Formats: sequence, structure tokens, C-alpha cells
Amino acid sequence: MPNTDTKKTLGRNERKGITLLQLQDMFPDEASAHKWFENVIWPEGTTCPRCKGQNVYRSTHKQMPYRCRECNRFFSVKTGTALQSSKIPLRKWVYAIYLEKASLKGVSSMKLHRDLGVTQTTAWFMLRRIREAFSLDTPMEFEGAGRG
Ligand SMILES: [Zn+2]
Repeated sequence: MPNTDTKKTLGRNERKGITLLQLQDMFPDEASAHKWFENVIWPEGTTCPRCKGQNVYRSTHKQMPYRCRECNRFFSVKTGTALQSSKIPLRKWVYAIYLEKASLKGVSSMKLHRDLGVTQTTAWFMLRRIREAFSLDTPMEFEGAGRG
């Protein structure tokens, strides 16, 4: 179970002045970004996106590392979310969400394109997905990953 006491929302972190450098420390690799997304998307633990069952187990499927015992479907943390069917690394999503949420006016696709090294079309796609999926009220907890 995630310890909510030590979790910080991105908003609170931002007011304390979390820097891109700190973000880099928190997310040194895909695994840490993956873990973070799992905490955001499944605050109560791994949940089947189709039947909402929690009777799940790890599968050996590379893209779909979980399987639901209720409906027998394979799924990943991306299944049924804004990140589904994108091949963009989760770390880039984390950065994009951070940049988008760190600014009151949001981030431009041009800035994202330059900062993340993605094409402007990809940057635009990511921003659209982020704005659709994560309202400013959504708690985005930047916690755990990579911090000793
Ligand atoms: Zn299921």
C-alpha cells in the first residue's frame, strides 16, 4: 500500500520548487516512471481496466505484464488510459505532465518538442492526451521512484 503521508502532489512539489534536475533524479529510467504511473493510475493496487477486478497476477507477456483472473485479459498500466497505444516512453510522459502542470498556462508543443526531443506532432499529441486525461485537480504524486 502506498504511504499517503509521504506522498506529495506535483502541485505541492512545484510550489516548493522541484527542479527538472530533481525530476531527473526521481526518474532515472523507464522502470521508475512505470512505477510512478502505476501508483497514479492504481492508487488502490493493480486493477483490471476492464472489469475493475483486483484479482490479478503478473504474466510473462512483455507489453501486457498483468493478467486478470476474473476476465482473463492481459493488460498493462497503459491499458484504458490516455497513454494507450502510444510507443512514447513513460519517462517522456512524466516529463510532459510535469512541464504541463508546472506552468499555469501550460506548456507549448514547441517547448515539449525541444525539451523532450520528440517531433512537434508527437508533442502536440501528448499535450492533447494529457489535457484530456489529467485535469489540474488530478493528484499527480511524484513520490518514491529513485529516491534513496
Ligand atoms: Zn478483468
